[in-house]
Amino acid sequence: MDLMKAAVFRGPGLIRLEDRKKPVARAGQAVIRITTTTICGTDVHIVKGEYPVTPGLILGHEPVGVIDSLGEGLEKEYFVGQRVVVGAITPCGQCFYCLNSAHSQCHGPLGGWRFGNTIDGAWAEYLLVPDARANLAPIPDELTDEEVVLVTDIFSTGLSGAESGNIRVGDTVAVFAQGPIGLCATLGAKLRGAALIIGIDSIHARLEMAKRFGANVVINYREQDAVAAIKKLTGGRGADVTIEALGQQSTFENALRATRPGGTLSSLGVYSGKVAAPYDAFHAGLGDQKIVTTLCPGGKERMRRLMAMVAARRVDLTPLVTHHFGLDDIHDALDLFSSQQDGVMKVALKPASVTEAVQVGETCALTRE
Ligand SMILES: [Zn+2]
Ligand SMILES: [Zn+2]
Repeated sequence: MDLMKAAVFRGPGLIRLEDRKKPVARAGQAVIRITTTTICGTDVHIVKGEYPVTPGLILGHEPVGVIDSLGEGLEKEYFVGQRVVVGAITPCGQCFYCLNSAHSQCHGPLGGWRFGNTIDGAWAEYLLVPDARANLAPIPDELTDEEVVLVTDIFSTGLSGAESGNIRVGDTVAVFAQGPIGLCATLGAKLRGAALIIGIDSIHARLEMAKRFGANVVINYREQDAVAAIKKLTGGRGADVTIEALGQQSTFENALRATRPGGTLSSLGVYSGKVAAPYDAFHAGLGDQKIVTTLCPGGKERMRRLMAMVAARRVDLTPLVTHHFGLDDIHDALDLFSSQQDGVMKVALKPASVTEAVQVGETCALTRE
């Protein structure tokens, strides 16, 4: 039996490195050997027990790799050894939701998000890709793993916040929170042609990065009232589009307060519990505001388009890949990423460097707290 190393969720606070059976591709599926993956804020929610997944699942949903084997029916389009990315979201392309252009909701709410949610994910040496024809996206030869690993989720999600907000040329856009997703939303606002882009956060390094990613104004909300500052910058009106990139009540309602009447709040955050729209921010429900939510768009055509932007040097996501770890260092990587220490934005995880010295059963500090 072929075995592989994998980082397995064993319940809140418990990630274990284990030997697992290497997956086998059936018709329409592919197995890829993971060469680079990363950790998402959503994974931290899972590890902390804030988003439920079944214990025993391999986490991770940002795969870059090489085709290891192909199930029946894929030989004409792909070949073993081909470098590919797979989006965090893997739509089937054929169900009710996919055929109604809601690919991320494939088969039902959040259904397109399968890796590390409902099926085994990318924190492993090998990954089984379902509906491979819809989801394997060849990587242009000239691009490195580090250049494309963030198109799988972070860039796709951040940009979709700008797209769902229907940003128009000349708009004023305020992006609440400048973590990796918020920074990619800032970049998305720039790509969509916004005139004034306001980045909001409390961490100095993130505000500096926001300027690199397209913000012309940054606001440290610990130093000044962000809503008042946005109103002041917009003649008292508020932004045409606000993007919420954190998933907390306070950022949601401040984004709503900062959205002008008739404007759009585009929400990307992952919320837990109830989210309320306060009377003043919501104009009693009569402000003609639009509130839209978006789950990361996936599928191979989305991946092709985003990689085309990287290949054409229209975007450079590599400043966000700040740290590198082997899969056997998953606990250190999780601790660093979740604590936001040492200027970390995103970590590159390399399963290929897994060694025999893996300490099976080790837990991480994230949950020892
Ligand atoms: Zn994610
Ligand atoms: Zn579908």
